[in-house]
Amino acid sequence: MLDEPDDGTGVRPEVLRGDLRRILLESLPAGTIRWDHKVTGVRALGGGRHELTFAHGPTVTTDLLVGADGAWSRIRPLLSNAQPRYTGITFVENYLRDADERHPAAAKAVGDGALFAVAPGKGVLAHREAGGVLHSYIALATPQEWMSGAVTAERVAAEFDGWAPELTALITDGDTAPVLRPINALPIGHRWDRVPGVTLLGDAAHLMSPFAGEGANLAMFDGSELGRAIAAHPGDVEAALTAYEQALFPRSERFAVESAANLDLMFGADAPAGLLTLLTGGERN
Ligand SMILES: Cc1cc2nc3c(=O)[nH]c(=O)nc-3n(C[C@H](O)[C@H](O)[C@H](O)COP(=O)(O)OP(=O)(O)OC[C@H]3O[C@@H](n4cnc5c(N)ncnc54)[C@H](O)[C@@H]3O)c2cc1C
Repeated sequence: MLDEPDDGTGVRPEVLRGDLRRILLESLPAGTIRWDHKVTGVRALGGGRHELTFAHGPTVTTDLLVGADGAWSRIRPLLSNAQPRYTGITFVENYLRDADERHPAAAKAVGDGALFAVAPGKGVLAHREAGGVLHSYIALATPQEWMSGAVTAERVAAEFDGWAPELTALITDGDTAPVLRPINALPIGHRWDRVPGVTLLGDAAHLMSPFAGEGANLAMFDGSELGRAIAAHPGDVEAALTAYEQALFPRSERFAVESAANLDLMFGADAPAGLLTLLTGGERN
């Protein structure tokens, strides 16, 4: 067990996704976000302008289009032919609630922070969330076809036969049906040539496996850097986008390399030795 006291000065603070989302939404003037506007089509009009079509019918024309629409971005094809590819790892997501009372052995194993129990090709990753919730990702190196059948907790648990019961409880004792999360990634070093009037941020630009723990950080950082670039180049969107992308590409590549390397460390042939080295700050091979 690695015990690091949390005195609030750590460099990797955690926040629940829902809380962070609420804080960000509350920082915006009412009406800034138009909900229920699913983009179904996008068309270049020339001169940096684009026409967006929404599922419920209307269209809008943009002077600046920012694709912040995640892994399966509708905007990305304007800039790049790259497609996310399956990394070979699937997560099965599970929640155990009121864990201290109802699942004390699992709660003790996870402790106050995070638990990583990894072996070649598989692992149990869990962390404690506010309110006594244990949130787990059960990781499996598996072909995508494995997911086509019904994936039940029992079927997942069968892959962990012989593992400690307080770990398999994180698979079998879930309060919700297990949710499959295949892990996809864009090619490392994904970039594009400048196309007038459009850019990408976050997963749309640099989807990577979550093993660098930076996906949400990068998406927010990209957004703030894009805002700063636009402010620094008043009246010249192209100069702003050029400056933004010149910094975006190497930054994204650095973290994509790290997340791919960490995937190998966690589930590669010498697991868990590589992860231990990573967490204890030792030299990596
Ligand atoms: C299993 C798993 C665990 C992860 N854990 C962590 C973690 O612990 N920490 C971390 O930092 N990162 C984590 N990540 C990565 C993180 O979730 C992403 O990097 C982050 O959410 C990217 O933010 P984004 O805004 O770019 O994309 P998203 O969060 O995917 O947001 C895209 C938005 O675009 C909207 N959208 C999509 N298509 C359309 C359309 N056609 N029209 C209109 N709107 C559309 C979606 O509804 C969504 O609101 C994890 C990822 C996975 C898969």
